[in-house]
Amino acid sequence: SIKGQYGKYFAAYDDKLRSQLLREQAITNGMEAALAQGEFEIYLQPKYKIPEGSLAGAEALVRWRHPEWGLQSPAEFIPLFEKNGFITKLDQFVWDRACAALREWDDKGYPPISISVNVSRADIYNADIADILTRTLKRYQLPLSRLHLEITESAYTEDPRQIISTVGQLREMGFIIEMDDFGSGYSSLNMLNQMPLDILKLDMKFIRSETAKPLDREILHFIMDLARWMDLRVVAEGVETRDQLVRLEEIGCDYVQGYYFAKPMPCTEFETLLKA
Ligand code: C2E
Ligand code: MG
Ligand code: MG
Ligand code: MG
Repeated sequence: SIKGQYGKYFAAYDDKLRSQLLREQAITNGMEAALAQGEFEIYLQPKYKIPEGSLAGAEALVRWRHPEWGLQSPAEFIPLFEKNGFITKLDQFVWDRACAALREWDDKGYPPISISVNVSRADIYNADIADILTRTLKRYQLPLSRLHLEITESAYTEDPRQIISTVGQLREMGFIIEMDDFGSGYSSLNMLNQMPLDILKLDMKFIRSETAKPLDREILHFIMDLARWMDLRVVAEGVETRDQLVRLEEIGCDYVQGYYFAKPMPCTEFETLLKA
């Protein structure tokens, strides 16, 4: 009967919802112990200067090596940690690990790269963020410019004044500021003018649609002109094909990152790139 079918549908829906809820609870209940027990680690994805093709730096991306579930990608747990506030603690751990890696590699005499870290919007509302960041770099005796701060485009549109003031302060102190996922949202062009920024990081969806839609290609040219005019460098992320790379070279993009070159990898593996 129809009623019976609906009943089955709702039961299945309930089960799915319940297991999802249980999983979210398990993540939330386990996060503090996981941090204390060293289950979180950073992976690094290389970033290359084009057209030279030289290694320019890396983005630090957090991973959770869960004893039962295996290696977890941040796509699921980061949004939960942003909701419950744990993200500020986890991000501080990531910044510390990134700086520790830079220190170790400087000491070994490798070329001095920079590492880009993701800064959640919750971090920006933390009044101590400037102190925490500077203390971390000081602890490892690194100039602030060695750490790039990636702030997602949508964070800028939320409370522009607060963001502009906090990020502006960080930039004046010496951190390099990158706007992450640029082109994914709707950061208005007139506001871009007031943003304290060094680098635009083009959203990967944008790169992808660039291959498909003719107008997007024009928009990308426009963004490159604008970036040059505003003295911003441009990074393209999510580069997966040689065609995309060639096109990005043609339009004068400065840096590339993506599976075409390398996936995010453990620090020990990244070190072999630095040695080469
Ligand atoms: P994001 O900062 O935009 O990072 C780029 C994401 O794209 C990463 O996913 C990366 O692994 C993936 N990626 C890189 N190249 C390619 C490619 O060629 N093709 C495709 N399809 N994907 C590519 P990941 O590591 O799963 O991270 C997802 C998001 O989680 C990040 O997006 C960032 O917003 C957030 N995240 C990751 N680590 C941290 C962290 O330590 N702190 C904070 N606050 N957020 C983080
Ligand atoms: Mg990022
Ligand atoms: Mg991004
Ligand atoms: Mg992002």
